Amino acid sequence: MSVGKVWFVGAGPGDPDLITVKGRDLITRAGAILFAGSLVSEAAMRWAPAGCEVADSKDMALEEIIAWLIARAQTNAVVLRLQTGDPSLYGALIEMAQPLDAAGVDIGVVPGVTSAMASAAAAVESLTLPEVTQTVILTRVEGRTPMPAGESLEDLARHHCTLCVYLSITLLQRVVGALRAAGWPDDAPMLVVHKASWPGEEKIIRGCIADIRDKCRAAKISSQAMIIASPALGAREWPDLKKSKLYDATFTHRFRRASE
Ligand code: SAH
Repeated sequence: MSVGKVWFVGAGPGDPDLITVKGRDLITRAGAILFAGSLVSEAAMRWAPAGCEVADSKDMALEEIIAWLIARAQTNAVVLRLQTGDPSLYGALIEMAQPLDAAGVDIGVVPGVTSAMASAAAAVESLTLPEVTQTVILTRVEGRTPMPAGESLEDLARHHCTLCVYLSITLLQRVVGALRAAGWPDDAPMLVVHKASWPGEEKIIRGCIADIRDKCRAAKISSQAMIIASPALGAREWPDLKKSKLYDATFTHRFRRASE
């Protein structure tokens, strides 16, 4: 058994202030931190204690990452794997957890603000709206990682709910094609947020199926972007919004009696 515990901590989408209090506390107590270099802002390192070993995993293969974590857990009580957004989404969590389990290293996970939520916040959008859509799908399009049966974007888009598409900005043409094939009209609204929450670097592109590619090209967005397609986008400007029952004065729920 190792002396330490390896914590997979969601660092949030970029703004260091969006890490959880629990994640920050673990950073302040860490003996070693391995962060995912491409997206986690190094500013998150501002809380690491003096003497903490801090390394970037961007040039490491999975085996090296695992070996690094196991070795550090032999001599440090708190070892962190700091990941972008939330560790449960596209973060190879299980691929790392299995060998740590096999090596007898205790692990824990601290959730983080995922980039879909940071993107909705940046654009002041609600991903659910009464009588418009009550469902959100977090997905990606097929790249080198194949999509399981029934999960093509075209299949998912047939639900006409909110779609948050990760890892796909270079395949925006494919995203748009899948929405069209699923019957979304040319003027269906779309949102692309580049570096959501990154201080001074965030870009918000609003468009529709017909023009979002041109707009992203003009804005030179080709990485680190969230694509959102949803019938609820732009609702802040709608004059005839259906209100949520939760705050409706004629609706009784668990905590409040309806007024007459
Ligand atoms: N675990 C991460 C996702 C890792 S996959 C999370 O929960 O957010 C990497 C993809 O996440 C990128 O291709 C992009 O689609 C998205 N992403 C990560 N950070 C982002 C940010 N700040 N703004 C927009 N998209 C981001």
